[in-house]
Amino acid sequence: MNRKYYGEFGGQYVPEVFMPALEELEHSFRHYKDSDAFRSEYRRILADFGGRPTPLTFAEHLSHLKRCRIYLKREDLLHTGAHKLNNTVGQALLALKMKKKELIAETGAGQHGVSVATAGAYFNIPVKVFMGAEDVKRQALNVFKMKLLGAEVVPVKKGQRTLKDAINEAFRYWSSHVKTSYYLLGSVMGPYPYPEIVKYFQSIIGQEVQSQILKAEQRLPDYIVACVGGGSNAMGIFNTFIPNKKIRLIACEAGGRQLRPQLHSATLNKGRLGVLHGMKTLLLTDRFGQIEKVHSIAPGLDYPGVGPELSFLARTKRIEPVSINDDEAVKAFKVLSRKTGIIPALESAHAVAWVLKSRFKPGNIAVINISGRGDKDLNTVHGL
Ligand SMILES: *Cc1c(COP(=O)(O)O)cnc(C)c1O
Repeated sequence: MNRKYYGEFGGQYVPEVFMPALEELEHSFRHYKDSDAFRSEYRRILADFGGRPTPLTFAEHLSHLKRCRIYLKREDLLHTGAHKLNNTVGQALLALKMKKKELIAETGAGQHGVSVATAGAYFNIPVKVFMGAEDVKRQALNVFKMKLLGAEVVPVKKGQRTLKDAINEAFRYWSSHVKTSYYLLGSVMGPYPYPEIVKYFQSIIGQEVQSQILKAEQRLPDYIVACVGGGSNAMGIFNTFIPNKKIRLIACEAGGRQLRPQLHSATLNKGRLGVLHGMKTLLLTDRFGQIEKVHSIAPGLDYPGVGPELSFLARTKRIEPVSINDDEAVKAFKVLSRKTGIIPALESAHAVAWVLKSRFKPGNIAVINISGRGDKDLNTVHGL
């Protein structure tokens, strides 16, 4: 098997101009990922600045309700309120080692942009965030945050003026600045080696879970449950446990309003093989192969593709893709708040919802990844 692929998924489907940059990135990543000095610097920053390790909280009343033992991995408590910082701090540190002068990123709802702007401010590296002009209007608060953190926000006025157009524009800019700029991708997606790099930095989540659950229960869990947009929080918590086939890994996708074209973003459930944003993976396309519109009540799950390794793990049945609709996610958002005192992101509520509607044997242990906090979603849920 070609190491740039996960089965038939992955690869580097990019124009020639990007190949030297991807090769340089792969080379540097291979060098630093096995360096003790780099790893300990990464861990120290995430501890000092990010607040790691995040707790693994036993959800007593929820456990009682479901007659099993439920734990919550608290990425909502990481600085900026979601798991994204693990990746942005890691890649910004890599960019610094590679002597890059600038970070480039694209953002849709603005969460990734804010996270990159945060890492840029911490390391004092200039940041340029490309954002569809429509999204700039809709997400004024995140635009303000990015600017406050010193990032330049570039509104993209082409196409539908949303994420897809921002990605195209960011790539175009990168193609003429590949020597000096570092493209900081936000999930386990895109051309190789990005899926490996993002997995590497997010895997800190599962590594912590392993030692925390062994300390609490003296054994590993039966279930690990995570939501999937691009797939970074899921790969992050799953990765450590993939070789242990007794542990069931549940990947919760956005079933949206219903599982019909344009009303959901359940790519692992409904996707077809295709090429998008530099990778071959499952995608939501129409019968002509065109990317379909997608929907989710959770802004972070609203993407027509999924990371190539998740496509592979679903195809080989190592992970179990399930879909959770908007109503189930909103209900779980409310139940978790009331039963635990933790208001989850609507994305994370998809993982909570699967646990709420599933049946467990007494004594089963389930770990849910609470990928982020729900403050950003209060207006959405309040309006329902
Ligand atoms: C961005 C985001 C997601 C989705 O991204 P993944 O790469 O699939 O993890 C999920 N939860 C939260 C809180 C997010 O901010």
